[in-house]
Amino acid sequence: MFLPVMYMSALSVIRPFDPWRSPLCTCPRKYTLNPYTGCSHMCLYCYATSYIGKRESTPKRDLIVRVVRDLKQILRFETEPLINMSTSSDPYPPEETIHKLTRRVLEILCKHPVRLLITTKSSLVVRDLDLLRKARCAVAITVTTLDESLAKKLEPNAPSPRERLRAIERLSREDVPVAVRIDPVIPFVNDDPAELRRLVQEVVSSGAVHVVTSTYKARPDNFRRLLDAFPELERKLRRLYYEEGEKVHGYRYLRPDLRKKLLAPIIECCRTVGVSYAVCREGIPEYRRAPSCDGSHLVRSRA
Ligand code: SF4
Repeated sequence: MFLPVMYMSALSVIRPFDPWRSPLCTCPRKYTLNPYTGCSHMCLYCYATSYIGKRESTPKRDLIVRVVRDLKQILRFETEPLINMSTSSDPYPPEETIHKLTRRVLEILCKHPVRLLITTKSSLVVRDLDLLRKARCAVAITVTTLDESLAKKLEPNAPSPRERLRAIERLSREDVPVAVRIDPVIPFVNDDPAELRRLVQEVVSSGAVHVVTSTYKARPDNFRRLLDAFPELERKLRRLYYEEGEKVHGYRYLRPDLRKKLLAPIIECCRTVGVSYAVCREGIPEYRRAPSCDGSHLVRSRA
């Protein structure tokens, strides 16, 4: 049984996941829990900033009390709800080493019958292996490139690709299932087919068992940040997104044929190496061979 709609509005921090109402979202029904507001990783392409502004990770006020209250409400009606931590800010920003807020939330969640999907681009997640090993959980780690200097430009305050690969290795060795998000793929930036294939091979040999990928979708603020960082691409990106592309639910998308072409090396490589794969908000059903797009099928259920 699901939580009745009348109770949903009373939830304060564990909220039903709403991918900004995107009609192309294929995520399973789940809740989202962001211990922090804002995100210090400062990725150029971040989608959340157009909704909440660009700001550093700030702990949510009274988080623990609110988590306990929401959880109690949800568990009255649902058996093993799926909670994704987090969807609009990273649960492991640099500040987490000080506040340990995500860890405190995990300590609570681990004691309850919930399924957990942790989405992060931080290797700090391995700090909590003692809890993750006991939890019904999977971890989705974002890796957009193996090129260290490009990653530094795209995701200035996030751990390097090398550190993320080590985290994937460590988690899988400890039997925590790992999915990888190759997301977003940005034309002329990280779309080299040979590099994308190499990336899939690296993450899979590090232990990832599912790959989800997606092309970059432009919003006015993230597009401006990209152009500031890559001024030489302005003309080409404007043509692809604002002249030839299409508007989908408030985002500028690439042409459908181009989206398919950009993601093809990743999908083909996943097929070759034999891991499950899916795309995120693309509307390309033939690019999915997995029970879930987001990797939540990797989360063990008690049943
Ligand atoms: S880690 Fe995610 S939420 Fe944080 S800045 Fe990067 S894209 Fe945005």
